[in-house]
Amino acid sequence: MLETLNAQPADALLALIKLHNADPRPTKIDLGVGVYRTGDGDTPVFGAIKAAEQILLDTQNSKAYLGPEGDMGFVHALIPYVFGSDFDRSRVEGMQAPGGTGAVRLAVEVAARAGAKRILMGTPSWPNHAQIVSAVGLELKTFKHMTAEGTADLEALRAALADAAPGDVVLLHGCCHNPTGVDYTNAQWDEIAQMVAASGVLPLIDLAYQGLGDGMEADAYGLRKVLAAVPEALVAYSCDKNFGLYRDRVGAFYAVTSDADALAKAMANGATIARASWSMPPDHGAAAVRLILGDSALTAQWINELTAMRARMAEVRERLAAAQQIGPINMAPLGSQKGLFSMLPLSGEQIMALRERHGVYMAGSGRVNIAGLTTGNIEAFVAALKDVAG
Ligand code: PMP
Repeated sequence: MLETLNAQPADALLALIKLHNADPRPTKIDLGVGVYRTGDGDTPVFGAIKAAEQILLDTQNSKAYLGPEGDMGFVHALIPYVFGSDFDRSRVEGMQAPGGTGAVRLAVEVAARAGAKRILMGTPSWPNHAQIVSAVGLELKTFKHMTAEGTADLEALRAALADAAPGDVVLLHGCCHNPTGVDYTNAQWDEIAQMVAASGVLPLIDLAYQGLGDGMEADAYGLRKVLAAVPEALVAYSCDKNFGLYRDRVGAFYAVTSDADALAKAMANGATIARASWSMPPDHGAAAVRLILGDSALTAQWINELTAMRARMAEVRERLAAAQQIGPINMAPLGSQKGLFSMLPLSGEQIMALRERHGVYMAGSGRVNIAGLTTGNIEAFVAALKDVAG
């Protein structure tokens, strides 16, 4: 029977990791997979996480099952950070999920069970968004996320919403857009909140990089604006970047409603979907986050570590922007783009030439992981870009 399965394309980004690992050149540069790196090229465990893990090691006396909703102390501890300290807590409830991926999956499945037929989404987007929408069996309607000038394309979003039908969901990146780094400005979010409210579509906000753009509060601006304007919304959250927990798979799915009965039903449906998918989310990373957020000294330590990450990425962006113009590529916008990623308008041949001639590894889309650049390799990267595109 299994021989009848269709072959599947290899995951391009995972294949890139293998190619990079096999390259013997010591000067090679990995701008592929989306993890933060220090100026030394490492992806260390946060000190605050290590401290919380030590507490867990010393005090955790059971690993008995928690339930499909996971660690509710973790889920509730995040609420003031995501929704704001003054958010009406009766409007929101959540559950833990295996990473932001699990949270997006839960959100899309709950929307489908509530009768959603279509997801409106700006492209390019994180490739897994489209895969999840398709796996759940919903239709995807795309619009352009970015203008040719490299700004967020509000008109395309406006047109998509004007064309929306009842039962549509609009998927928005809360901050640090993957893969473009092009976020909506606060003034644009003000408009988006009104546009979404007027359209009647259900917003699904994916917040996977809070704190990596302008800070924890600033990065929640758009989400909070939209939630203040609409009666209902879904949120998919990831702690895998802002707590450096990647492989521990730490995320949360939230529903916001104006009706207690709808909120309870959203959670009950989320729980049955979780039960039939992974039964319960992995505990360890979420427990560590709960301990950090419940202790002011650990919270301050975590915020300091997050601030240092953001400062390093800002410095790299500033240096890239200083290159100004490389052939047809305007480097200046990279300075104001947000988060781990930006996209360079390179052809497939140029991306291959960067790999073969210079050992620079980046996704075929031209997406670069800003944190892959360090004081030690940024000049070489700019020189390589000049060689292939200048
Ligand atoms: N949403 C977006 C936009 C992402 O870029 C990612 C992953 N990089 C995720 C969700 C999921 O993150 P994870 O499952 O690793 O927590």
